Amino acid sequence: MNVFSSIWNYKCPKCRKGDLFVKPFKISDPLNMNEKCSHCEQRFEPEPGYFFGAMFISYGWTVWTILAIVGFCMLVLYWTVESSFILVIFISALSYFFIMRISRSMYIHLDMRYDRELASKE
Ligand SMILES: [Zn+2]
Repeated sequence: MNVFSSIWNYKCPKCRKGDLFVKPFKISDPLNMNEKCSHCEQRFEPEPGYFFGAMFISYGWTVWTILAIVGFCMLVLYWTVESSFILVIFISALSYFFIMRISRSMYIHLDMRYDRELASKE
């Protein structure tokens, strides 16, 4: 599994086998993470407030997506500002949980290195 599919599938950054988030997904607790990896025992939140940095990834992702959508709607489709933002609000509501979870996954993959030996261990 490469790093991109590991991020996309919310896998442990160290071994890329264990799951970051508790399954099945519950809408009442979308950021419920496993305490440690089921395969390599890597702790997913090494210190309190560890995922504070993921907010910056989420912020950047959201801002650039909104700018691209509004820009496309206004400059290409000639929509009004109001209708462009109605579409953005709709898309933001649909992608809210996905962006929160993928930001955490990206952040932990930026911080922790893949360990090939650990991954091949059964
Ligand atoms: Zn692991």
